[in-house]
Amino acid sequence: MRISKATNRNTIANQLCIVCGKLDSKKFYNGLTKCNNCGFVWADINLSSEDLMKIYGRDYFFGDEYIDYLAEETILKFGFRKFLNQLRKLFPANTDVPKLLEIGSAYGYFLDIAKEDFYVTGIEISSDAVEYSRNKGHEIFQGDLSKLNLQDKYDIVVSFATLEHIVSPDKIIRQAFHLLKPNGYCYITTIDIGSFFARFRGNKWRMIHPPTHVSYFSSATLKLLMEHNGFEVIECKPIWQYRSLNALFLPKLENSLFYKFVNFLGVTKIPIPFYFGDIIGLLAKKA
Ligand SMILES: [Zn+2]
Repeated sequence: MRISKATNRNTIANQLCIVCGKLDSKKFYNGLTKCNNCGFVWADINLSSEDLMKIYGRDYFFGDEYIDYLAEETILKFGFRKFLNQLRKLFPANTDVPKLLEIGSAYGYFLDIAKEDFYVTGIEISSDAVEYSRNKGHEIFQGDLSKLNLQDKYDIVVSFATLEHIVSPDKIIRQAFHLLKPNGYCYITTIDIGSFFARFRGNKWRMIHPPTHVSYFSSATLKLLMEHNGFEVIECKPIWQYRSLNALFLPKLENSLFYKFVNFLGVTKIPIPFYFGDIIGLLAKKA
């Protein structure tokens, strides 16, 4: 995949940090740059709209980042259900049905279950995923949130595993703030480059893979970005994830006896909880 190199925000030398606004960065490993002041890390790459459409085509969900996103539906929903259970408690049962906006709604799995408790809307860049979600009846806006002109106001904006894919996540956070009603909530999950596991793995950390991962927060830099943009952070902590053995091991072990054995047992599709402490969930309120 050919991607245009460092032209805009990420011109390597002398670039303002999008989190703290300081002009003091150094080269980090694997083509990344790190702010000396706050520790925010970004990839030295600029992505045009054409680049993004190429990256987030069908291959992204079927072979590049995920092996088979549709086959993972049950398990991904199992994980989403945990978030939903937490988020629905933010709204008293006797009030109007709250409005929820998901940034990076992919194939609509979270929206599928969240519609039990919320009026749901998604934003997604992948044409294939947008079409799939719309066919299920979801309201989906296609494109880059920072360029879309949404008129509605929401009670909650959520974003799962999306911020790390965005070149200018500060614009997304400002848009989320703008789109929220007063006292509205924002819930975000992303990767944590400041976690013990990420620091232990260094340049071999599994989450370092530009051009799909371009913004690398820690819990400290994510909190800072939220607070700088008017949010009051309620909680920020590492979260559990759920994947199937298929998703976790298939790429390397498909032809092994071990894989054939577990496949024979029929357990390749059950949800396996895993926790490296390097994925964080942040809940904030529009103060
Ligand atoms: Zn900074």
